[in-house]
Amino acid sequence: MSTISNEKYEAVIGLEVHAQLLTNSKAFASVSSEYGAAPNSQVTPLCLGHPGTLPVLNENLVRYIIKMGLATDCKIAEKSIFARKNYFYPDLPKGYQISQYDTPICFGGSIDIELENYSKTIGITRIHMEEDAGKSIHDQDPYHTLVDLNRAGTPLIEIVSEPDLRTPEEAYHYLAKIKQIVQYLEVCDGNMEEGSLRCDANVSIRLRGQKELGTRTELKNMNSFRNVERAISFEIERQIELVESGGKVIQQTLLWDPNKLETRQMRTKEEAHDYRYFPEPDLPPVYVTQEMLIDIRAELPELPSVRFQRFSDELSLSKDDAYILTESRVLADYFEEVLKDVNQPKAVANVILTEVLRVLNEKSISIDQFSITPKRLGELIALKMDDKINSSAMQQIFNEMLQSELSAVELAEKMNLMQVSDTGFIDPILDDVIESNPDEVQRYRDGKKALIGFFIGEVMKKSKGKANPKQVRELLLPKLENS
Ligand code: ADP
Ligand code: MG
Repeated sequence: MSTISNEKYEAVIGLEVHAQLLTNSKAFASVSSEYGAAPNSQVTPLCLGHPGTLPVLNENLVRYIIKMGLATDCKIAEKSIFARKNYFYPDLPKGYQISQYDTPICFGGSIDIELENYSKTIGITRIHMEEDAGKSIHDQDPYHTLVDLNRAGTPLIEIVSEPDLRTPEEAYHYLAKIKQIVQYLEVCDGNMEEGSLRCDANVSIRLRGQKELGTRTELKNMNSFRNVERAISFEIERQIELVESGGKVIQQTLLWDPNKLETRQMRTKEEAHDYRYFPEPDLPPVYVTQEMLIDIRAELPELPSVRFQRFSDELSLSKDDAYILTESRVLADYFEEVLKDVNQPKAVANVILTEVLRVLNEKSISIDQFSITPKRLGELIALKMDDKINSSAMQQIFNEMLQSELSAVELAEKMNLMQVSDTGFIDPILDDVIESNPDEVQRYRDGKKALIGFFIGEVMKKSKGKANPKQVRELLLPKLENS
């Protein structure tokens, strides 16, 4: 975007995020909706839209969406109803999707996002329940489109933001925050690549200082965080260029092409009345009682922002470290598991942020696939804290532990890395070092006390890292003073 246009225009962005819920069964049928099963192996007559079938509401859908509502400070409607959203599509056998229209179950909430130099509160207009459609597969058969109905009826929540976002980066952070919250709540796995988290972006531009919103376009098909950011940037630029050259933005739906890095027209924007919404006659209203709310609130985990604050305040971690450690709940849990055995937050954080994260990155795995359990890592760190091994030994043992079932203590012994505090072992080495370096000894005695580091280094080398540097220093000092 050119700087001139940037000063002249600002972008307005609102996101609609769909999250697929991790319930054991579909929204209105008792059949699994797990990702990756053989095509059409998870369908019931209801999923096929057969006449005479009736939906039955999955109670966990309601509980999960209320969790999300409470975690984002939404109000929870005492009574909300389902609505039919009618449209034709080959992967929608019923000819309508069950959704919510004018009475969403959660509304009026907010999510805080933190950017590098500022933070900001983004309004949540509503969060409602709906069911997913099936999947049309266009690229497997040269002549036909294939339909997989496993996904039909999978429970979704749709989180609709206020048009409060102003830059692609803000949109990125907002989406990342949603992913973090659904993962903490364990209501959705947050995987954008597999489609369990999906995002449509509404984008418009307006002159800076102008109150009214401009005409928006809606972007679809962005299946990664990076693509969301890129697509919005592209669209802002396209709209500015269009308006600057005398054109007008028309309301339409655009598809992001991740290969060409551009958007293209999909259809002109449909209006609510095109869907002929009406109250779903086959399902009763959803009533949420106070008891239910108390019950669900009690099930909420410590949320990421609270945990971040606790890590930086109570555990005295730096903001950066606390941020990375709380980014995912599983990583934060792992860290706290290790702390149970070694109550040294800074030391434990250090090992996780350097050694552990390095391995996770190299192997492209997440902490729950990491081979060293918190207990075993705790034992290793404890050895170091008790001065039984030095830092380089800790690193060597850590690397060995990745392939080994042995404990840190067993490996330290096997690899001959335990520091030896036995003076019978160290004394001869000290004498040897003093004898072989008469010049340095003289300079030390003449006042160059900084040479102590040199002597300790020599002893450590000769002991192959097994001497305890603290003890070496204590034993060296008197020997160097006396002739
Ligand atoms: P629809 O359901 O037709 O997509 P909504 O009114 O529910 O329309 O809005 C969807 C999203 O679009 C919301 O996130 C909202 O904040 C955003 N939005 C609405 N108007 C604009 C606009 N002019 N520019 C950018 N975003 C907008
Ligand atoms: Mg929309």
